[in-house]
Amino acid sequence: MVDTTADTVVYRLGVNCDLEEVEEGKTYIGRVQGFAPFGAFVQLNDRVKGLVHKSNVKMQHRERDPIIVRVIQIRSNGNIDLEEVTPTVYHTQTVVKKMPAVRLSEIGKKIGRTVLIEGEVAQIKQTSGPTIFTIVDESGTENAAAFVEAGVRAYPEVQLGDIVGIVGEVMQRNNQLQIEVASLAVLEGKDAERVRARIDQALEERAEPPDLPFLIQSDVLERLKPEMRSVAQRIRKAVFTARPIVLRHHADADGICAAVAIETAVTALMRENGDDFDAEYFLFKRAPSKAPFYEIEDITRDLDFALKDHIRYGQKMPMILLMDNGSTEEDLPSMRVAQIYNLPVMVVDHHHPDEVVDQYLVAHVNPYHVGGDFGITTGMLGVEIARMVNPAVEARIRHLPAVAAVGDRSEAIERALYLAVAAPAYSEDDCRDIALALDYEQFWLRFSDGREIVKDILNLSGDAERHRRLVRLLADEANRAIEEQIEAVMPHVEARILPNGVRLFMLDVEIHAHRFTFPPPGKTSGEVHDRLVSRYPDEPVVTLGYGPDFVVLRSRGVMMNIPQMVRELRQEIVGGGVNGGGHLVVGSIKFVEGMRNDVIESLIRKIGKAPI
Ligand code: MN
Repeated sequence: MVDTTADTVVYRLGVNCDLEEVEEGKTYIGRVQGFAPFGAFVQLNDRVKGLVHKSNVKMQHRERDPIIVRVIQIRSNGNIDLEEVTPTVYHTQTVVKKMPAVRLSEIGKKIGRTVLIEGEVAQIKQTSGPTIFTIVDESGTENAAAFVEAGVRAYPEVQLGDIVGIVGEVMQRNNQLQIEVASLAVLEGKDAERVRARIDQALEERAEPPDLPFLIQSDVLERLKPEMRSVAQRIRKAVFTARPIVLRHHADADGICAAVAIETAVTALMRENGDDFDAEYFLFKRAPSKAPFYEIEDITRDLDFALKDHIRYGQKMPMILLMDNGSTEEDLPSMRVAQIYNLPVMVVDHHHPDEVVDQYLVAHVNPYHVGGDFGITTGMLGVEIARMVNPAVEARIRHLPAVAAVGDRSEAIERALYLAVAAPAYSEDDCRDIALALDYEQFWLRFSDGREIVKDILNLSGDAERHRRLVRLLADEANRAIEEQIEAVMPHVEARILPNGVRLFMLDVEIHAHRFTFPPPGKTSGEVHDRLVSRYPDEPVVTLGYGPDFVVLRSRGVMMNIPQMVRELRQEIVGGGVNGGGHLVVGSIKFVEGMRNDVIESLIRKIGKAPI
């Protein structure tokens, strides 16, 4: 490895540089232009040339040969006296034209002109043609294309995160701005510090979310505001610095509404920021988690893609945002993996949080932190944060909290307030149909985000007629499937009355329900529960839907703490392999198949002691 601090620096005079960028005593690389009886003319670039007197020529040259020269003096008439030098060890550094740098947000006004831009390299992508450097400054993001030879990496010395100065012509290709690189220099020392400080400070300010009132009046939301702003600020900053965002969410209507609100705000902000069109796909990824937590399987896939994108496309490593999951102990293994790779993780959730997760998070919005509960759904939080990220999308997403509230059966006062926000365009029945359509479609989408289909279901694609027809069809299909399931399972529901007066209903969803189709076991249990609750309107009701190694709980009118029960069961039943969680009164528990009876009987005893 060559020690670049000790060897000679040979400067390459960049495009557009004039005499004023040439300094006496410095060494430059040029080309032999021609010969005269008294010496050789050397071009330092298209504009600047000097003379090497024959007494100072060291080697034989032909025209166009590269030559390294030192500037002896610059005469007052502008003539440059050079001497040939032959350093054995040296590295080159490009000199960038001293001119005022143009902000990236301004280059749209400079098409066809040659400009200097200064910024951070946020991505380096080698195409089959030029090398594309994505440059970020305090005002925006643009691509700069540098070409040496098709498919060959230009400026191999430039690394992700470097501060660079680029001189080039502003071009417009397929409606997108691009800078055609004429010369590119990695700034060093004070120059780099100056630019970095300027960008960092301006970015901090630019990332600060606007201060808006919420769509509704809510004490819980007010208390969550500082943390919500922190999440919005980090999302904005990620967009402005071309850091990829991976958004993982619970695969139900609430989780989808929350995540799609952020997706809408982020993709619109990217466009506004000058990102190219496909950035919306490779810099923002939304994916549902099948489990109600961030599984090892999820982080493994996310990390695998992130590392490949980092190596193949020179992308930064992503930030992870978990919505409608992420706040329980079950998320810890994945968070530990994220920590090893230095991926910042943020959580926006309304499941009962375990404090232990917070050490792994850079931000955590959860109504339980401020005396609220799961009635504040993630969809409500997601839409309010999305407005902070990008207020321009508000009109498109303002109905999503109502869909989330209805989908998650929120009983908080905020539910009615958000329904009022969605009205009159969307009635409560509309919201219920949309939520059901989302659940139904997500079941068939499995691990895909279904970005464009989901936009139609939520009426975000601009085709209201198609939205209406699609939701009608999906909701009808879902209802038909549910009715069929209910018809099959209801005769098998077993009833008991517990010591505390709770009406307990139990159903084996493994043998008495259709499997591997919609509705899945959790939804089936929920539908059964809803019917039983309306049959016994004034009594406490608990419904357990169980399979060989799991039980799903739904309750009404009972003071339960499911995460607490899970902890107790895990301690009490040795060899039960108990884990799980969820909300306080709605959740799921897993165990090993051979211990099912012990776990369920013990669970029933606990429910029988819970206060009404
Ligand atoms: Mn939820």
